[in-house]
Amino acid sequence: MYSDFLTESMDLTRVFHLFFRTEREIRSLTQTEGVDGVVPWYVTYNDEPRFHTAFVARGKQVTALTVSPESGEFVEIETLELENSSFVSSTGPWMTDILFFGEDAMRGRRFKERVANSIRSNFDFRITPPGRKTNEEIKSRRDRCQCNSVNDDIVEKEQTGDGPYKIFRCQNCKKIHGIELGGKKITPRKLFDADWALEDFRGDIVEIDEENDYLIKTDGKHPRIVGSLHLLSDASMEESEYSGAFDPNEQMALLYIADGRIAGFLSWNEPVQFQVLRQLYVRPEARRRGFAETLVRHWIERYCRNDVYFLDQPNDLSRPLFARLDDELASNGPTSKEYFALQPVNLEY
Ligand SMILES: [Zn+2]
Repeated sequence: MYSDFLTESMDLTRVFHLFFRTEREIRSLTQTEGVDGVVPWYVTYNDEPRFHTAFVARGKQVTALTVSPESGEFVEIETLELENSSFVSSTGPWMTDILFFGEDAMRGRRFKERVANSIRSNFDFRITPPGRKTNEEIKSRRDRCQCNSVNDDIVEKEQTGDGPYKIFRCQNCKKIHGIELGGKKITPRKLFDADWALEDFRGDIVEIDEENDYLIKTDGKHPRIVGSLHLLSDASMEESEYSGAFDPNEQMALLYIADGRIAGFLSWNEPVQFQVLRQLYVRPEARRRGFAETLVRHWIERYCRNDVYFLDQPNDLSRPLFARLDDELASNGPTSKEYFALQPVNLEY
């Protein structure tokens, strides 16, 4: 078990032994010499978060520490060696991310999955690390589910964030079937209709070389369009390793409108000083027409501000596209780099 991981050289475990589990202790660890930042995986106990596992970034190393089920002390699970130093983005002890770039992105992601598996096999926490297997599970569950509209009994209305709409989600397979806006049920047919979605739209409209097609950019402040983005990003989770939903408070999106219908989108955000592409998705019926490439090319041209932009877990469908654009733009345009953020997790038990 964890005692196998104990080594003589683990100074950090002594710090944990003296100070562990409360916010004060995260701060103390963060201030330990050489430590760049600490990402906690925590449980909420008596309304107060207490951390159980900590990822400690120190230069080109990240160490995962957790509580030994035998001694109750913190022990090392594993240390990850990186090619380059990670980057720490922090707005507080419970809100720190460790960011991995380029070759290190894949290493960081696998590391997180190994640590999650290790914790799962030793504790009764439910952790769902994003990953290919999880998305295959979502897809196969949805393929087997009988749900097909907002009117099914199994589909229930949920509040999402602080937006003006609610979403209709199947309680079995978690698929989103529509939204409620202004007290009305809105089905996908309407949500993807450009005339309806763009009624109050005041934002960038990007002309492209296709006669009946154009792109629009939203900053997350257009409820109708955000409603359609919820559906699109929910569908994209079935085939993407990135499992986050579209977040209108933090992300922006470029949408492809073809023949009066919303056909696909690209979303991004700008944490700290760089830009990260989050999702790229084209609805199955609109594929093989180059829409994804058009979205990326126009995004690069209009909205990319740096020499490098980051990709959050591209899938097998989009990797070749980014590789091709990188080759083409290498000398005179921005190129892509993979990115992975190790984030705090509120563990369920
Ligand atoms: Zn379902």
